[in-house]
Amino acid sequence: MKYEKESVAGEFIKMLKKLNEINQPAFTPSSFKDAFKKHVGIQKNFNVDDQQDSQEFLTVLFNELHNDLKMENDGILSEERSIIKDTFEMTVRQKILCRSCLNENDSRKTEYILLAPLPAEDDISLANCLKKYFEEQPLDNTNCAVDGCGSQSRTIILEPLELPPVMIIQLMRFCNDGTKNNCHVNFPTRGLKMNKFLDDDDEDHQQDSMEQQEEFDLVGVIVHEDTSGQQLLKVGHYFSYIFHSDTNSWYEFNDSIVKKIDETIVTKKR
Ligand SMILES: [Zn+2]
Repeated sequence: MKYEKESVAGEFIKMLKKLNEINQPAFTPSSFKDAFKKHVGIQKNFNVDDQQDSQEFLTVLFNELHNDLKMENDGILSEERSIIKDTFEMTVRQKILCRSCLNENDSRKTEYILLAPLPAEDDISLANCLKKYFEEQPLDNTNCAVDGCGSQSRTIILEPLELPPVMIIQLMRFCNDGTKNNCHVNFPTRGLKMNKFLDDDDEDHQQDSMEQQEEFDLVGVIVHEDTSGQQLLKVGHYFSYIFHSDTNSWYEFNDSIVKKIDETIVTKKR
């Protein structure tokens, strides 16, 4: 993998190496932050000193890492291939259907993060959030482009075509009024089944569905903790739970404090 030493990717890799070497719980990533500030903050107007939404930050970081780590194909940099895209990117088919003239419009989009909506039910499971994401939804305020139709009665259906080796799911806890839905969501730590969402009749992934990973184990959780006491999304504190496969244990990473925790703490967290 080729990359510039002082690029965001270079400093990110240096930081990961350092974290593997040091024998202390915390490390201050100043040179990574400086590189991020120089290449992303100043050029792309992203204030690194402000608290950012973790999903927005991750998307910006992935885009930058992808740019820095593009793979070469016959000496030419590929816009489409990098270790970031190969690891985290999922391809989704977007089917827009006009209920009036029955015109169907298929396109593909790629995502790093699956933004799963929370269904309005008492006992929410991650499987039901995913089901809602892949359900037919009304498409608001747009008109059908077919001549003489122009109907607003259109729906959109998303279908996963290719799942990445590592899938990132974000629960859409924020509401339109800026508040946060803090309900508990049940999720498995092993064997999240995605095969039911894949279309078995689809030729595109029929051949690679054998090698496609359809069950996922949980390896990490990012928690947004409300510190305002008012369930506001704009204020709060982030920490994470990470599964360490060598020791088969879960750890909490909260600023400079790292501690081993029980798996039930992870699954019960809101
Ligand atoms: Zn139409």
